[in-house]
Amino acid sequence: MKKILVSSFYKYIYLDNLEEFQKEHLEFCKNLDIKGKILISKEGINGTVSGIKDQIYKYETNLLSHKEFSDLKFKRTLAEIHPFRKTIVRIRNEIVSSGFGISAKNFGKHISPYELNKLYDNKEDFVIVDARNNYESKIGRFKNAVTPDIETFREFKTLVKQLEGFKNKKVVLYCTGGVRCEKASALLINEGFKDVNQVDGGIINYIQQYPGIHFEGRCFVFDDRLSIETGDSKDITICERCHEPCGEYINCFNIRCDKLFVCCRECREKFYSTCSKECRNLVNSI
Ligand SMILES: [Zn+2]
Ligand SMILES: [Zn+2]
Repeated sequence: MKKILVSSFYKYIYLDNLEEFQKEHLEFCKNLDIKGKILISKEGINGTVSGIKDQIYKYETNLLSHKEFSDLKFKRTLAEIHPFRKTIVRIRNEIVSSGFGISAKNFGKHISPYELNKLYDNKEDFVIVDARNNYESKIGRFKNAVTPDIETFREFKTLVKQLEGFKNKKVVLYCTGGVRCEKASALLINEGFKDVNQVDGGIINYIQQYPGIHFEGRCFVFDDRLSIETGDSKDITICERCHEPCGEYINCFNIRCDKLFVCCRECREKFYSTCSKECRNLVNSI
């Protein structure tokens, strides 16, 4: 039974006294006994926490009671066990590492999941661009999405040239929960893109309202779950071991390797969750 709630949120807002906030917030999280990872920076807050219903309710209520966070939106998903092992509150230069900051305050227009459906259903002329990394879009993406081949969000700035042909088109960006798209959309607007939009609350918000409609496959998440169901049961990629359709990631059981790879249940059992012959031999010899 999935009884752990996972709540994620972000907000771009100027924050001061970061050390003080960090100390207080960590203590608060520890007292509540929730787990997760919260990044704070002068540009805002970006976090995901996990706990049982009561703990998450208390956590969210507390955050909302801060004046600067009173309009925070929380996106909740479920987990069988805590997808985080620790509680981390960290001060960073950016709440999502981009290397291009948010000098521009002109973020792309937020469109709701409903509005996105209308674009699809009315066959409007628009291009949907995945602002996530290549390994994320590999297991799940919006229909017809442009899926850039980047390994980290820091590389997004190198895509401007590649996307240039869409400068005068309606562009819709999306990511997991929205935090990356804020920056990605500001970057494109700065570069002269005319009509830049972003899916409000990202994939997580969309699949909660419209499971199995225009998002295909699974949604990658940055915690121990690695991916979550989206209401669409299609496997859009293949197991790296047996090449049968599959859509789930695991980390290689050889901790020295730890490679993230797509692996089906049968192969997990057969090969002890290892990615290669070498890793399997190593695991066997322990
Ligand atoms: Zn397999
Ligand atoms: Zn391995």
